Amino acid sequence: VTTGLGAVELVHVRLPLVEPWVTPLGRMVDRDVVLVRAVVDGAEGWGECVAQPDPTYSPEYVEGALDVLERHLVPRLMAGRPTGADAVAGILAPVKGHRMAKAGLEAAVLDASLRAAGVNLADDLHRRSSAGTPAARPQRVTGGVAVGITSDLGALESAVAGRVAEGYVRIKLKVHPGWDVEPVASVRAAHPALALQVDANGSYAPLDPAARRRAIGALDPFGLLLVEQPLADDDLVGHAHLGAGVATPICLDEGVTSLEVTDTALALGACQVVNIKSGRVGGLLEAVRIHDRCLSAGVAVWCGGMLETGIGRATNLALATLPGFSLPGDLSAAGRFWADDVVTEPLAVPSGVGAGVEVVDLSRWTVSRRRLA
Ligand code: MG
Repeated sequence: VTTGLGAVELVHVRLPLVEPWVTPLGRMVDRDVVLVRAVVDGAEGWGECVAQPDPTYSPEYVEGALDVLERHLVPRLMAGRPTGADAVAGILAPVKGHRMAKAGLEAAVLDASLRAAGVNLADDLHRRSSAGTPAARPQRVTGGVAVGITSDLGALESAVAGRVAEGYVRIKLKVHPGWDVEPVASVRAAHPALALQVDANGSYAPLDPAARRRAIGALDPFGLLLVEQPLADDDLVGHAHLGAGVATPICLDEGVTSLEVTDTALALGACQVVNIKSGRVGGLLEAVRIHDRCLSAGVAVWCGGMLETGIGRATNLALATLPGFSLPGDLSAAGRFWADDVVTEPLAVPSGVGAGVEVVDLSRWTVSRRRLA
């Protein structure tokens, strides 16, 4: 058994979606994803890089993530001889950006380290959080689900009715200028008490400030939990101005990329809610720090999704057990996206060691596999 980090493997897989996923950013029929396998102290761990095939959610994309992992991140990590996951972010810090690639690598090292030590991931995150309760952490979390853009209101209503019948307590709709008040009004009329929120993925950015207030303010009568990222990623001041003129709470997703940006957003009053995604912020450990900061500032958080496989879903579930995650996350069951998942366990807060999932033979989905030792 080798002490410390032994080998890292990058596995590019392509999973067919059960139905096309349509958002303001585009249409996806397969999910290409980079899975990272690391061996630490003889134990194997897995992480998921949530970068998407196209650089439309963020600048990162699958082929770019593979390239930066192979050329820069994995060699630096190997040379840095990390003793555990705590050292990963510091070793990788000289490489700017590429947070999703870094997060996938850190998650694999963390999973492997925890498996080697016999520790559960959710317990470990609670131990790291200033508000964590390792002895009394939740065994379950409440899951919401996102519904993509449909061809018409009838298709939207049947999609929402199906998700509600499946037991989801919160529905998130994708919106953009031209597809907002009508779908929201239609879903609200059919489900008066449903916890409902919307995500714009920055699509209201082209509007001038008065038009933004009119468009987002038109959603106020429907009692939404929040409107997510109406404006551009870097427009924190714009979000602060918009939030001052509408009643629906503003939530940031793409715009929050680090603890420092979180501090800036909170200081500017740019949001009342933060969507935390460990990939977007560079790793699970940074996600815990952002959670802690938001909790002490009285800002609600929830765990967003990136169409993760069961590997990324397991880490999301573990993260979402922290006490600041007071709103339901995008923690839908794997079957919502995949006919077959890459892990064998059903979707629940993992109870085993590490992230608690066993990865199946990936060969039928594998596009490429690179071992870096
Ligand atoms: Mg979002």
